[in-house]
Amino acid sequence: MKIHEYQAIQLFKNVGIPTPGGETVSTLDDGLAVAKRLGFPVVLKSQVLVGGRGKAGGIKVVNNDVEFKEHFIRIRALKIKGYSVEKIFIVPAVDIKKEFYAAVAIDNIKSDVVLIVSAEGGVDIEETAKKNPQAIKKFYLNGQKTIDTARWPEFVKSIFSDEADQKIATGVLQKLLAVFFTNDCSIAEINPLVKDAKGQWFAADAKVNFDDNAIFRHVELESLRDLSYEDADEIEAKNLNLSFVKMDGTVGCIVNGAGLAMATLDTIKLLGGEPANFLDVGGSSNSAKVLNALKIILRNKNVKSILVNIFGGITRCDDIANGIIEARKQLNIQVPMSVRLIGTNEKEAAEILKRENIISHPTMRSAVEEAVKLAKR
Ligand code: GDP
Ligand code: MN
Repeated sequence: MKIHEYQAIQLFKNVGIPTPGGETVSTLDDGLAVAKRLGFPVVLKSQVLVGGRGKAGGIKVVNNDVEFKEHFIRIRALKIKGYSVEKIFIVPAVDIKKEFYAAVAIDNIKSDVVLIVSAEGGVDIEETAKKNPQAIKKFYLNGQKTIDTARWPEFVKSIFSDEADQKIATGVLQKLLAVFFTNDCSIAEINPLVKDAKGQWFAADAKVNFDDNAIFRHVELESLRDLSYEDADEIEAKNLNLSFVKMDGTVGCIVNGAGLAMATLDTIKLLGGEPANFLDVGGSSNSAKVLNALKIILRNKNVKSILVNIFGGITRCDDIANGIIEARKQLNIQVPMSVRLIGTNEKEAAEILKRENIISHPTMRSAVEEAVKLAKR
């Protein structure tokens, strides 16, 4: 889950990372009032959940009312990577002398949390990573949650030559780690972390993503969710306890078990089709779940065929078959289906389906082949 800069900066503030302050508005009048209160110059910062706002014209320092109006109206009308700007964060401008980069992230290959720090921060950090990777320093935590180790002084000295800077940077990084671990983040990033002309430090930007698999532990973060960035079908599926991810293809799928669902997507691709979704109805599935799943799948107008691939264990195949028949009636389903139901009560299931002229395929391959063929008609 991603949150906006103005929300992430609040998490930074809570742990004592210095921030410039500011307020978020959506109208010009509210914005002007905030700017008057803060005093010019201020920075107008578009709040969209994508990176590279600066390069897209979504960040602007303004010095007076006239500039404020011009750029507020311009930024409010921008589309950044397809997203409209609904909110603008207005902050007192920092007289930036130096921009650094600081982040806490997960290195999936090393299975470790890593601090990433660079003296070359700012909007060109991606370029730096490509052209001058040695300017980006990494400190692995080796499974710890703090930087309180013998390795630290040497690391921090390799980035900041000044002793006072080393001390301030260490403090900021410790606090950034606290944000990362207390909120179960997948990333917590400050770019740029800035030093102004008077030697004061500020987090001039904030990016925080939460690990979706841990979000249930943080009810307090739920209110930060911006639903305009989430797929309505995925939200509904989640409320119905279905694990659903929308995709670009034409073969809708209902599968039980995440592993089988992944294998099903692979098989569709292998046999020349394109899946329209991932959907795991879960271990103990019933006819109500099948009905809900079909409702969500059929909202996607790209779906040209539906593949049901169930391996019945605790789940009874006859329950699923009844669910399919019931859903076909209730939802008046016109999209053709290909079904494979094996395991507990598979014979009963085949009988139920046969009465409605649906054949239950003996193998996954033949069911997928038919679904792919139907989707191409
Ligand atoms: P991003 O492009 O989405 O990462 O947006 P940022 O919030 O990082 O802003 C982009 C750039 O705008 C920064 O790297 C700074 O160079 C500049 N910027 C942001 N805030 C200020 C500020 O307070 N004063 C000045 N002078 N520049 C700023
Ligand atoms: Mn930034």
